[in-house]
Amino acid sequence: MKEKFVYEFGVHTDGNAKMRNLLGGKGANLAEMARIGLPVPPGFTITTEVCTEYSQNGGKIPEEVMKAVRIALANVEKQQGKKFGDLENPLLFSVRSGARESMPGMMDTILNLGLNDQTVLGLAKATNNPRFAYDSYRRFIQMYGDVVMGVHAKDEHSHDPFEEVLSAVKEAHHVEFDNELSPEQLKEVISQYKELIQRHTGSSFPQDVYDQLMGAIGAVFRSWNNERAIIYRQKYSIPSEWGTAVNVQSMVFGNMGEDSATGVAFTRDPANGENVLYGEYLIDAQGEDVVAGIRTPHPIAMMETEMPESYKELQKVRATLEQHFRDMQDFEFTIQQSKLFMLQTRNGKRTGLAAVRIAMEMEASGLIDKKTAVKRIPADSISSLLVPIFDARELKKMKPVAHGLAAGPGAASGQVVFSAQKAEELFAKGKKTILCRAETSPEDIRGMLAAEGILTSRGGVSSHAALVARQMGKVCIVGASALEMDYASRSMKVGSTLIKEGDEISIDGTTGQIYVGALATVPSEVNQVLKGTLKASESATYQLYAKLMGWCDEFRKLKIYLNSDSPEQAEMGVLYGGEGIGLTRTEHMFFSGNRIDYIREMILAETPEDREKALSHLLPFQREDFLGIFKAMKGLPVTIRFLDPPLHEFVPHDEPAQKALADKMGISLERVKARVAQLAEFNPMLGHRGCRLGISYPEITRMQSRAVFEAVVECVKNKIPVYPEIMIPLVGFVKELKNQADIVREVAEQVRQESGVNFDYLIGTMLELPRACLQAGEIAKIAQFTSFGTNDLTQTTLGMSRDDMGSFLQKYNELEIFRNNPFATIDTDGVGELMRLAVERARAVRPDIVMGICGEHGGEPLSVKFSNAIGLNYVSCSPNRVPVAKLAAAQAVLEQSEQ
Ligand code: PEP
Ligand code: MG
Repeated sequence: MKEKFVYEFGVHTDGNAKMRNLLGGKGANLAEMARIGLPVPPGFTITTEVCTEYSQNGGKIPEEVMKAVRIALANVEKQQGKKFGDLENPLLFSVRSGARESMPGMMDTILNLGLNDQTVLGLAKATNNPRFAYDSYRRFIQMYGDVVMGVHAKDEHSHDPFEEVLSAVKEAHHVEFDNELSPEQLKEVISQYKELIQRHTGSSFPQDVYDQLMGAIGAVFRSWNNERAIIYRQKYSIPSEWGTAVNVQSMVFGNMGEDSATGVAFTRDPANGENVLYGEYLIDAQGEDVVAGIRTPHPIAMMETEMPESYKELQKVRATLEQHFRDMQDFEFTIQQSKLFMLQTRNGKRTGLAAVRIAMEMEASGLIDKKTAVKRIPADSISSLLVPIFDARELKKMKPVAHGLAAGPGAASGQVVFSAQKAEELFAKGKKTILCRAETSPEDIRGMLAAEGILTSRGGVSSHAALVARQMGKVCIVGASALEMDYASRSMKVGSTLIKEGDEISIDGTTGQIYVGALATVPSEVNQVLKGTLKASESATYQLYAKLMGWCDEFRKLKIYLNSDSPEQAEMGVLYGGEGIGLTRTEHMFFSGNRIDYIREMILAETPEDREKALSHLLPFQREDFLGIFKAMKGLPVTIRFLDPPLHEFVPHDEPAQKALADKMGISLERVKARVAQLAEFNPMLGHRGCRLGISYPEITRMQSRAVFEAVVECVKNKIPVYPEIMIPLVGFVKELKNQADIVREVAEQVRQESGVNFDYLIGTMLELPRACLQAGEIAKIAQFTSFGTNDLTQTTLGMSRDDMGSFLQKYNELEIFRNNPFATIDTDGVGELMRLAVERARAVRPDIVMGICGEHGGEPLSVKFSNAIGLNYVSCSPNRVPVAKLAAAQAVLEQSEQ
């Protein structure tokens, strides 16, 4: 741990924006705002290192830290001209968490700290507002009781005990809203709150202000390890070692009357990226009221008439923030008796669409350069420009039942569910759901992940639901106030329409409209333009997409190939900018039409002659498949991977289907059964598959080679440029490759002779076994290209089945044994090391050998960056991941040049 534990901000500021690892995002930016002269209430930040120390030494705050806290606190007292715990005019604090990365709503906050039975009298006198003082005190007890002393609802179905007390007092006095309670009535609430705490915990609510402060600091540190925070960290791969900082800041009040307010705002619209001040505020309210989504706040534009001076000031702040931070900011402010204070700023979370638009528009206005713009757009976010939208013609026929604020763009339909738990339950059954809640809270996070879309009846664009959905890339509508949710009857009412749990609804997160029933979707605007059904000039989204892709092409080194088994997929991939096919899984072609019958016939054959006969039926189909793909690719490289899966995957395993097959083929059921039994394997993924099939049954390799070359001849004759590359799977021994390569060459020669047409082709292999990586030098003597099959390479390097790891994956994630799922993101320390070594060994033998990757990792940004780092030539991925891969490939180059 460093010597310095506490960093001050205010008139004197120790920290700055660069210190986010130590001070957390909030602390670092409070310091930065203080430095650039924005009005920040003074305070101090306790470092993230103290959090780590706190967790390691059994939850104790070291004495030297407390000493430093007292010094910093005295400095704040001096600046504010007030004293902590003072009986006349007490200084109050907020205590908030602040991690390196923002984790919205994941950790805890305490406001009004420093109030007790005595100081509340002082506050009442000093402000000449007893109602405000007692309301502040009751809020403090409520937050402190919950966060520090652990008094809260038992589960999601029961009520918050403090809210129950508050409701009962309001009812007893026939009062509807909290702010109508008189000081006397608030005192009643306070005394009942204290009793509640005593009853629940056996301890009384602390009256000593320093005890309060210690308790609050400890609670913030502990909240780093609460369940919500842990789930959030897992989802976003945030290491637990980072810890959170604690920010202790002098309180300012947005609840001091009609000239006070509190709000959150974005310097641009986080949903669509528009360059406007965007956000919301509540008059006469305290901080958390806005984010909690309990009262629906006013849109910030209304401030122009309600609080014109403050609005002007906010606009100035907006410009200062963007000029200084050069990114869209999400900030919190409070107006206390007409004076504006800044409580937080951070880079705002935004939808994929907004990320693209903001980066490009900031570049256009000169705020950032092109490289920064490319680096700043999370590579995955571009997929949100490609997702389907509702069919405009269908939409015209439908009348929305309600609308809310568009908070996460896209189209989603599914069954209505009213609890996160139900969403998870249906998700496990493969069902699509729309999670409908009055508002969401961090407890709902798993359900939000499981749902297709999220709909709330309360809250604004910065409510929890909106923030989290935006980050998850979920379709989301918030604040649809016409919906009356009734959890008890598991239904919601809109006017006279009753929607029950299980009913289908559709939500349009781009427009905020809600429809009853499941609506049909159409391709995104980008896809429509690419396919020529919409003019480029009519789609602003397409223009952003095209400009960004152009920039990526300027920077990236990696080529982007396609994993594609059909001409349609290949065509779409080329429209997205795919530069070749890196993997055609030929076996996928065997499942269309009646081809499967011939495959089965081939498998059941007992002699090579019978096998060849069956294969000869397959030949024309395969030839047509290849021809279709060659035509679609117009001379770009096409890598054709020969038969790979174990044969038992093609035969029926239940008796009726086996009987049908036997009848079709005119053989006995017993024979079919016997052959199926013979094909059964204990570990099929390590069994008779890959090149082992072509070695046992060379006639399969012969048929596939012939199909490729006859299709090539057809292309050559029709002047269609063609560039085939034959790829042998699951090679571990160079002799396996040689065996198969000899067959391929022999057939090529035959086809040349028969047709009188000359053609070029390459033979290569997949590197998908550890042995192949180790032998890459030897293999490169024969292989003219190689492609890492990272699915099998991960499976065989880790000794973990790619199909069976679901049973322990979650535990591994929880324990952080995996930082990422190794089947999604390349395990760079293990699998990646083998890849590095293979590249080195292969290039030592054949320096210009083309090496790529075609496992599922090929479209995942971190893996793309790794591929770039080890000097691969291409990554190959599903067509709709091409734009993501392009962006990641460009970022890889830019990030590398920074190092
Ligand atoms: C691989 O193993 O990574 C690969 C691309 O092949 P398949 O997924 O077909 O086994
Ligand atoms: Mg494989």
